[in-house]
Amino acid sequence: MRIDIITIFPEIFEGPFNHSIVKRAQEKGLVEIYLHQLRDYTSDKHHKVDDYAFSGGAGMVMMIEPVARVIEKLKSERAYDEIIYTSPDGELFDQPLANHLSTYENLIILCGHYKGIDERIREHFITKEISIGNYVLSGGELAAAVITDSLVRLLPGVLGNEVSALTDSFQNNLVSPPVYTRPRDFRGWKVPDILLSGNERLIEEWKFEQSVKRTQKRRPGLLEE
Ligand code: SAH
Repeated sequence: MRIDIITIFPEIFEGPFNHSIVKRAQEKGLVEIYLHQLRDYTSDKHHKVDDYAFSGGAGMVMMIEPVARVIEKLKSERAYDEIIYTSPDGELFDQPLANHLSTYENLIILCGHYKGIDERIREHFITKEISIGNYVLSGGELAAAVITDSLVRLLPGVLGNEVSALTDSFQNNLVSPPVYTRPRDFRGWKVPDILLSGNERLIEEWKFEQSVKRTQKRRPGLLEE
């Protein structure tokens, strides 16, 4: 998979992309992530990418021209499955959407700033708009990092244990059962006996029951789906 991210703050991604699973996935060649500095695509001598909103009101708006240039350049090089804009009013990001996007080859993610982007970018270039939740961030970078992380961990070969992404919360509309590690007894707080029983069938049944109970309690909406 290849992900091209368009941003005015490429430095923000240094943390999330240069550690842990996303770093290893890149090193193994399972994903290629390219950061494109939007300011490199403006003809303005001060590298300005925002301007005042027509109609006035507070806040600047990201201009259409630099975005058009970078997207058209990328599209001339390869075909993209989706051109995503991170937006608070977009489709709410969830595991089924992550699963779906992880099957694609090439994605662009455009990170907005200020009051947002010129509406004509959304109308003419963007094929999908994604929100990571009903709250407003100051820019699309954190949303793009969240989306990228969740896709990368689903790519075959990325997680050591291939099954492990499939047993995470939200796969099969259930949340994960509780997990424990050593010691068996900490200040009298014990690990459930069944997990130490060695009986795989009973352990699997217990995990499933726990998942269902937790889902009923914490995310009843998932069971209705
Ligand atoms: N005026 C806009 C908010 C702009 S916030 C509004 O009220 O809808 C600036 C940028 O941050 C947005 O262009 C978008 O790219 C990003 N952003 C903010 N909140 C987000 C969210 N919940 N999910 C995804 N991207 C978000």
